[in-house]
Amino acid sequence: MKKIGFVGLGNMGAKMVINLLKKSYNVFGYDINKNLSDELVIHGLNKIENLNEMPKDIDILITMLPNGDAVEDVYHKIINIFEKDILFTDCSTIDVNKARELYKKCQKNKITFLDAPVSGGVGGAEAGTLTFMVGGNENDYKLMLPLFEVMGKTSLLCGPSGSGQATKACNNMLLAITMIGVGEAFNLGNNLGLNPEKLFKILSTSTGSCWAINSYCPIKGIGPTSPADNDFKPGFSSNLMLKDLTIALKAANDSNSVTPFGKKAKENYQKMVTDNQGNLDFSAITNFNK
Ligand code: NAD
Repeated sequence: MKKIGFVGLGNMGAKMVINLLKKSYNVFGYDINKNLSDELVIHGLNKIENLNEMPKDIDILITMLPNGDAVEDVYHKIINIFEKDILFTDCSTIDVNKARELYKKCQKNKITFLDAPVSGGVGGAEAGTLTFMVGGNENDYKLMLPLFEVMGKTSLLCGPSGSGQATKACNNMLLAITMIGVGEAFNLGNNLGLNPEKLFKILSTSTGSCWAINSYCPIKGIGPTSPADNDFKPGFSSNLMLKDLTIALKAANDSNSVTPFGKKAKENYQKMVTDNQGNLDFSAITNFNK
């Protein structure tokens, strides 16, 4: 049974840790916010007050942090304490190039690194049904696979280092664009006097169907329960969507990719955040664009 260090016990990390603890993994957890881990101690977490208290003999280090700077900060604070080779798996959503840089830095220090951002949100983290998009080496992926299977339902080695973050950037840029499109279609239907339930019935079974309609319809009372039925409480916040679009657009720029709809989607979410609506679910863009 592997000994695991877990850094970042926020909305996602805490739920992922609970699933590891349920499977009797020995988990040592740290968060900069000391209050967060108290509840996890009841579930069996070994709480660490300071990063340098991380046991020197852990096998795997997992991070679930807000951004690449936080991941790099943790990396620098912790890199020299380990007695043996460890596998460092970063599940945060971070810049594609930053993930590649971390992989190279780790290689120099005989640490292996996987970028493994997730899809599925807090609900998926709690249910253990996350999707892991992984970048790195096949052997490291195989080592990590039993843990991916505890915390998630699907995982895929997408390619070499950075490929997990690149895949996540593509997915979330597409998600933002489709959500904006779904909102526009429903707003148009409303202005044309259509019944939203009938419109949903057709859209969700026709060529316009997509996850944003079928599973996460942004109209209150229509389709399966979604944040629209709960005053747009996230879910997945517009702040996080803006962060992911910023990563996607930077990756597009770095790779000379033409993404005008991604750019427009980022402008829309930027406006929402600037107007202090960033804490609303990203599907609230539907009302914002009216
Ligand atoms: P969160 O803000 O709830 O949790 C992040 C945690 O990291 C916080 O508890 C914070 O105190 C801690 N932290 C920050 N800097 C730290 C440091 N230097 N050392 C130790 N701890 C530190 O965020 P979250 O919703 O759990 O998201 C985590 C990551 O997962 C993000 O990269 C996010 O983009 C990604 N993600 C989130 C969702 C979602 O629905 N929330 C979905 C998919 C991916």
